[in-house]
Amino acid sequence: MKILVALKRVVDYNVRVRVKSDGSGVETDGVKMSINPFDEIALEEALRIKERGQAEEVIVCSMGGADVQQQLRTGLAMGADRAIHVETAGAVQPLTAARILLKLIEKEQPGIAFLGKQAIDDDCNQTGQMLAALWDRPQATFASKVDISEGKATVKREVDAGLETIEVDLPAVLTSDLRLNEPRFVKLPDIMKAKRKPLDTIGLNELGVEAAAELESISFEPPPKRGGGKMVESVGQLVSELKNKGLL
Ligand code: AMP
Repeated sequence: MKILVALKRVVDYNVRVRVKSDGSGVETDGVKMSINPFDEIALEEALRIKERGQAEEVIVCSMGGADVQQQLRTGLAMGADRAIHVETAGAVQPLTAARILLKLIEKEQPGIAFLGKQAIDDDCNQTGQMLAALWDRPQATFASKVDISEGKATVKREVDAGLETIEVDLPAVLTSDLRLNEPRFVKLPDIMKAKRKPLDTIGLNELGVEAAAELESISFEPPPKRGGGKMVESVGQLVSELKNKGLL
């Protein structure tokens, strides 16, 4: 079985996001970029499945400009066998991303398409679900535990009410939640080895994907600055302050 893992390049989760001075987007110049944390977890799980002897190959893929190859190389250094870069003019939104992933699935025939539950830049939480619908295969999203056996995946899911366990027939789409695992650290020799692993680039038109109608962002602005807090002396004062603000 092959596992296809989607890795999105995003602003590192430790970076304080800044809006560009002209309000046209989020500043990425000189900003540390990383693999979307949920995708790193998805890749870690795929590698563990392979290490248990339940998969033969882990393929990482990413869509975007040439710079997404940095994150693909990191994925190869973590242990993926090969990488596919689908070159697009700019960032792609979920439906286009799902259409592209479907084309890669048709080509590679993986048993699992493993995605993050959401990308921390747009927080859409849509691509995995859309992909399952387009592929017409089951989905197990928000996975916090995955067991594979006899062509099935048993997945513990994090849902609003707590945890739920479902069984899906493979091939299927899985998406990772935060508690699924702790991704491994990349060691220097692995980074060197990753340079020799295959990384193919495919153009969007070669795949024959029609870009979906996309949402247009008109302008960005940072949230208003938070005012300072106020210490109160007593419960009585707290209640009257809240009343003054119309909160009680
Ligand atoms: P979203 O629906 O945008 O929150 O993204 C959910 C997941 O889809 C991400 O965690 C990735 O695994 C995958 N994904 C979305 N966009 C891309 C992209 N441009 N490149 C690679 N993977 C992507």
